[in-house]
Amino acid sequence: MLGRYSWTTQKDMNGFSFYVLYTVLVLHLLRPETGVNGDQFPLYIKEICEIQCSHCVMKSVYWCYECRHILCKDCLRTHNEGNKNQTHSIQPTSDRYKVIFKFCLVGHKTNISNINCLSDELLVATTNEIDKELVIFSVNGHQIDFKPLEGDAISLAVLDKDTVVVSKAGFSDFDLTKIIIQKDKFTKFSDKFSMGGDRHFPLKYTEQQLFIALHDRIKVTGANLLPSFDDIHLEFTPGDMCYNDGLQRWYCVDSHHSRLICLNRDWKEIFTFTDSKMKYAYCLDIDNDGNVLVLCQERNNSSGCVIMVNSDGTSSQFVISNIQLSGSYLYSCMCYHRYTNSLVIGVDGIVYVYRKEAEG
Ligand SMILES: [Zn+2]
Ligand SMILES: [Zn+2]
Repeated sequence: MLGRYSWTTQKDMNGFSFYVLYTVLVLHLLRPETGVNGDQFPLYIKEICEIQCSHCVMKSVYWCYECRHILCKDCLRTHNEGNKNQTHSIQPTSDRYKVIFKFCLVGHKTNISNINCLSDELLVATTNEIDKELVIFSVNGHQIDFKPLEGDAISLAVLDKDTVVVSKAGFSDFDLTKIIIQKDKFTKFSDKFSMGGDRHFPLKYTEQQLFIALHDRIKVTGANLLPSFDDIHLEFTPGDMCYNDGLQRWYCVDSHHSRLICLNRDWKEIFTFTDSKMKYAYCLDIDNDGNVLVLCQERNNSSGCVIMVNSDGTSSQFVISNIQLSGSYLYSCMCYHRYTNSLVIGVDGIVYVYRKEAEG
């Protein structure tokens, strides 16, 4: 509450001195190393959106993560002149989720294929960087550990805080490997599956079953990961899928038709959601309130956004606009880290961590 305290006690100072002091306090609190569990953090994000531009008297409209400056339209134009700030992350202050951490996980020229929550503290990602195919990292990027997997790791499912399943892709097929992380124990448990040209496919573990979505079929195996698979037929091809344990509902994106499809645990359709905000939707996860967050990308460029759809599909809103996603199509990924209430997005080799501003 430091920022609010200064507002009430410093009001006798002249406006400019107050503004400088207030801005310094706010920017101090927005340092990247500010607490990972800082529930206060979103409050300060909301407060900075209500004050004026860092450079002039105009109302702020944008926020730059790197400069820690809030900017009006004119000052943003000045900020963007030349190439010196072209890697800066700029967001409209109206976005509900703001970047709070940004760090390089693997090389800039490699891709993070998938990100998932591993535990309260850690996330896990697959990449195509040699000897860094599996990456375990903390949400603030202070801890990053690599595990070599000998082959492109693409899809990823978390069985428990110490065990993951990854798909390792060949030219036209893939196999599944179970990895016990702490013991460096690798067990290949599937024969080759045909990919049919699509290297990315959803892989989810829930209710002690592993679900593998291959085109319009879901293959299912039990926790023992025996190489026998049940087969479920769908009316669409899921680009990504996630499961709400409380509601016992699957949410899938049908990327090619820009639809969000909700199904019950027996894979019977409950509703289909679509609206003009939902462009090429290819990645989704569920927040702690049961809302579905959908990562979308424009078809002809790398401009992306995140849309939040409520659990019943009756309302939607932009929560992040203007994300620069990967130039190579579908090489961006997203997951919701429940313990820290953070939305984690991987673009090429970079991780962006967003947190929601306070309500009300
Ligand atoms: Zn900047
Ligand atoms: Zn300005």
